[in-house]
Amino acid sequence: MSHMISEQLDNCRLCGSLFLKNYTDYCKDCCKEVEEKYNSIAEYLKKEQNRNVTLEDVSASTGVSLKQIAEFIRDGRIYAEDFPNLGYSCAHCSKLIKKQLLCVDCFDRFSTDLNKTLKIDKLEKEIGSEQFTASRESKYWRLKK
Ligand SMILES: [Zn+2]
Ligand SMILES: [Zn+2]
Repeated sequence: MSHMISEQLDNCRLCGSLFLKNYTDYCKDCCKEVEEKYNSIAEYLKKEQNRNVTLEDVSASTGVSLKQIAEFIRDGRIYAEDFPNLGYSCAHCSKLIKKQLLCVDCFDRFSTDLNKTLKIDKLEKEIGSEQFTASRESKYWRLKK
């Protein structure tokens, strides 16, 4: 029993205090606070004249921190695709993004080395496999070109 509970304990993403993990990353107090913040942002974004707002605009109007708003967007709670200027900075180059931590360019750059290794690995396995006949191999290379 105590083992089960310890597995469900987590540190609140906001205040760091231990809490029993349920459906959120926040303790009960912070959860309430986060919900209130979310509601004020949702209310603000509902207004037609706020279509073109930026992250800074939302923060200035609602008093919610940039980080918190960015988290809502990253978590998908705020659907930034509907708002052309709403997003947060890529963790590497500061380009405006609406999901993940990195923009597509930076993600590509960071994952290239890893991918190269994976692709070579996969290719070696395919070439090395006994079922990989000569004809299939030539077809494979034609397709690649
Ligand atoms: Zn908390
Ligand atoms: Zn980037």
